[in-house]
Amino acid sequence: MIQMKRIYIKEQVCIGCRLCEVYCQVGHSHSRDIIKAFKKESPRPLPRLVVEVRETISLAVKCCHCAEAPCIHACLTGAQRRDPESGIVTVDEEKCIGCWTCIAVCPFGAIRQDTYRGRIVKCDLCTGEDMPVCVVNCPNEALLYAETEEDVLARK
Ligand code: SF4
Ligand code: SF4
Repeated sequence: MIQMKRIYIKEQVCIGCRLCEVYCQVGHSHSRDIIKAFKKESPRPLPRLVVEVRETISLAVKCCHCAEAPCIHACLTGAQRRDPESGIVTVDEEKCIGCWTCIAVCPFGAIRQDTYRGRIVKCDLCTGEDMPVCVVNCPNEALLYAETEEDVLARK
Protein backbone atom coordinates (compact mmCIF):
# COMPACT_ATOMS: atom_id res chain seq x y z
CA MET A 1 0.00 0.00 0.00
CA ILE A 2 1.27 3.49 -0.85
CA GLN A 3 2.16 5.53 2.21
CA MET A 4 0.32 8.80 1.72
CA LYS A 5 -1.10 11.70 3.66
CA ARG A 6 -4.85 11.79 4.19
CA ILE A 7 -7.28 14.19 5.84
CA TYR A 8 -8.33 13.05 9.31
CA ILE A 9 -11.33 14.49 11.14
CA LYS A 10 -11.50 15.64 14.75
CA GLU A 11 -15.25 15.93 15.10
CA GLN A 12 -14.92 16.97 18.78
CA VAL A 13 -13.78 20.43 17.66
CA CYS A 14 -15.80 20.82 14.45
CA ILE A 15 -18.40 23.56 14.94
CA GLY A 16 -20.18 23.08 11.61
CA CYS A 17 -19.16 26.51 10.28
CA ARG A 18 -18.74 25.11 6.72
CA LEU A 19 -15.65 27.21 6.04
CA CYS A 20 -14.00 24.03 4.75
CA GLU A 21 -16.73 23.79 2.10
CA VAL A 22 -16.33 27.45 1.16
CA TYR A 23 -12.57 27.25 0.75
CA CYS A 24 -12.88 23.96 -1.13
CA GLN A 25 -15.19 25.73 -3.59
CA VAL A 26 -12.72 28.59 -3.98
CA GLY A 27 -9.78 26.21 -4.32
CA HIS A 28 -11.55 24.41 -7.16
CA SER A 29 -12.87 27.54 -8.87
CA HIS A 30 -11.52 29.06 -12.07
CA SER A 31 -10.63 32.38 -10.46
CA ARG A 32 -9.37 31.10 -7.07
CA ASP A 33 -10.93 34.31 -5.73
CA ILE A 34 -13.62 34.00 -3.08
CA ILE A 35 -15.80 36.87 -4.34
CA LYS A 36 -15.52 35.95 -8.01
CA ALA A 37 -16.05 32.24 -7.31
CA PHE A 38 -19.33 32.91 -5.49
CA LYS A 39 -20.61 35.98 -7.34
CA LYS A 40 -19.36 35.66 -10.90
CA GLU A 41 -18.74 32.03 -11.78
CA SER A 42 -21.63 30.15 -13.29
CA PRO A 43 -22.20 27.43 -12.42
CA ARG A 44 -20.81 28.09 -8.96
CA PRO A 45 -17.98 25.63 -8.17
CA LEU A 46 -19.06 22.69 -6.05
CA PRO A 47 -17.37 21.72 -2.78
CA ARG A 48 -15.72 18.30 -2.81
CA LEU A 49 -16.52 17.72 0.84
CA VAL A 50 -19.81 18.20 2.69
CA VAL A 51 -20.34 19.10 6.34
CA GLU A 52 -23.00 16.94 7.98
CA VAL A 53 -24.68 18.48 11.04
CA ARG A 54 -26.94 16.71 13.52
CA GLU A 55 -27.76 18.85 16.56
CA THR A 56 -24.39 19.49 18.29
CA ILE A 57 -22.44 16.96 16.22
CA SER A 58 -20.85 18.00 12.94
CA LEU A 59 -18.14 16.66 10.69
CA ALA A 60 -16.82 17.03 7.18
CA VAL A 61 -17.52 14.06 4.90
CA LYS A 62 -14.93 13.59 2.14
CA CYS A 63 -13.15 10.96 0.09
CA CYS A 64 -10.84 8.74 2.16
CA HIS A 65 -8.74 7.62 -0.83
CA CYS A 66 -9.32 4.07 0.41
CA ALA A 67 -6.55 1.51 -0.03
CA GLU A 68 -9.16 -0.80 -1.63
CA ALA A 69 -11.32 1.82 -3.31
CA PRO A 70 -14.74 0.46 -4.36
CA CYS A 71 -15.26 3.39 -6.74
CA ILE A 72 -12.25 2.35 -8.83
CA HIS A 73 -13.52 -1.23 -9.12
CA ALA A 74 -17.07 -0.12 -9.90
CA CYS A 75 -16.38 2.62 -12.42
CA LEU A 76 -17.65 1.52 -15.83
CA THR A 77 -15.31 3.63 -17.91
CA GLY A 78 -12.07 3.63 -15.95
CA ALA A 79 -12.59 7.28 -15.04
CA GLN A 80 -11.86 6.59 -11.38
CA ARG A 81 -8.22 5.70 -10.90
CA ARG A 82 -5.41 5.87 -8.39
CA ASP A 83 -2.36 7.95 -9.11
CA PRO A 84 0.45 5.40 -8.79
CA GLU A 85 2.87 7.87 -7.22
CA SER A 86 0.71 9.88 -4.81
CA GLY A 87 -1.96 7.23 -4.09
CA ILE A 88 -4.69 9.84 -4.60
CA VAL A 89 -7.95 8.51 -6.10
CA THR A 90 -8.88 10.88 -8.88
CA VAL A 91 -11.52 11.10 -11.58
CA ASP A 92 -10.71 11.67 -15.24
CA GLU A 93 -13.43 14.15 -16.16
CA GLU A 94 -13.14 13.34 -19.84
CA LYS A 95 -13.98 9.69 -19.19
CA CYS A 96 -16.79 10.20 -16.65
CA ILE A 97 -20.23 9.58 -18.18
CA GLY A 98 -22.26 10.49 -15.08
CA CYS A 99 -23.69 7.02 -14.45
CA TRP A 100 -23.37 7.57 -10.65
CA THR A 101 -22.25 3.96 -10.04
CA CYS A 102 -19.32 5.18 -7.93
CA ILE A 103 -21.72 7.20 -5.78
CA ALA A 104 -23.75 4.05 -5.10
CA VAL A 105 -20.74 2.04 -3.94
CA CYS A 106 -18.86 4.68 -1.91
CA PRO A 107 -19.26 3.64 1.76
CA PHE A 108 -18.71 7.21 2.96
CA GLY A 109 -21.11 9.11 0.69
CA ALA A 110 -18.09 11.16 -0.35
CA ILE A 111 -18.73 11.54 -4.08
CA ARG A 112 -21.01 14.27 -5.41
CA GLN A 113 -23.02 14.69 -8.57
CA ASP A 114 -22.23 17.64 -10.79
CA THR A 115 -25.56 17.57 -12.56
CA TYR A 116 -24.73 20.65 -14.62
CA ARG A 117 -21.75 18.95 -16.27
CA GLY A 118 -23.11 15.39 -16.01
CA ARG A 119 -20.16 14.02 -14.09
CA ILE A 120 -18.94 13.56 -10.56
CA VAL A 121 -16.72 15.65 -8.34
CA LYS A 122 -14.70 14.41 -5.41
CA CYS A 123 -11.85 15.39 -3.13
CA ASP A 124 -8.47 15.38 -4.89
CA LEU A 125 -6.54 16.41 -1.77
CA CYS A 126 -5.87 19.68 -3.62
CA THR A 127 -3.30 18.04 -5.87
CA GLY A 128 -0.40 20.41 -6.45
CA GLU A 129 -0.83 22.26 -3.15
CA ASP A 130 1.30 21.62 -0.06
CA MET A 131 -1.84 21.02 1.99
CA PRO A 132 -5.57 20.73 1.18
CA VAL A 133 -7.27 24.13 1.43
CA CYS A 134 -9.92 22.81 3.85
CA VAL A 135 -7.18 21.83 6.29
CA VAL A 136 -5.44 25.18 5.94
CA ASN A 137 -8.62 27.19 6.51
CA CYS A 138 -10.41 25.24 9.24
CA PRO A 139 -10.37 27.63 12.21
CA ASN A 140 -10.42 24.85 14.80
CA GLU A 141 -7.96 22.31 13.40
CA ALA A 142 -10.84 19.89 13.02
CA LEU A 143 -9.20 18.67 9.82
CA LEU A 144 -5.67 17.32 10.04
CA TYR A 145 -3.38 16.23 7.24
CA ALA A 146 -1.25 13.28 8.28
CA GLU A 147 0.10 9.91 7.16
CA THR A 148 -1.47 7.87 9.95
CA GLU A 149 -4.16 8.19 12.59
CA GLU A 150 -1.39 7.77 15.19
CA ASP A 151 0.18 11.00 13.92
CA VAL A 152 -3.15 12.74 14.49
CA LEU A 153 -3.50 11.33 18.00
CA ALA A 154 0.04 12.47 18.79
CA ARG A 155 -1.02 16.06 18.07
CA LYS A 156 -3.90 16.04 20.56
S1 SF4 B 1 -14.08 24.46 8.74
FE1 SF4 B 1 -13.48 23.03 10.39
S2 SF4 B 1 -14.85 23.57 12.10
FE2 SF4 B 1 -15.77 24.46 10.25
S3 SF4 B 1 -17.21 22.88 9.49
FE3 SF4 B 1 -15.25 22.54 8.43
S4 SF4 B 1 -14.19 20.98 9.69
FE4 SF4 B 1 -15.83 21.86 10.97
S1 SF4 C 1 -20.13 8.49 -12.50
FE1 SF4 C 1 -18.22 8.69 -13.71
S2 SF4 C 1 -16.55 8.18 -12.28
FE2 SF4 C 1 -18.50 7.41 -11.36
S3 SF4 C 1 -18.68 5.23 -12.03
FE3 SF4 C 1 -19.80 6.49 -13.56
S4 SF4 C 1 -18.25 6.94 -15.16
FE4 SF4 C 1 -17.11 6.25 -13.34
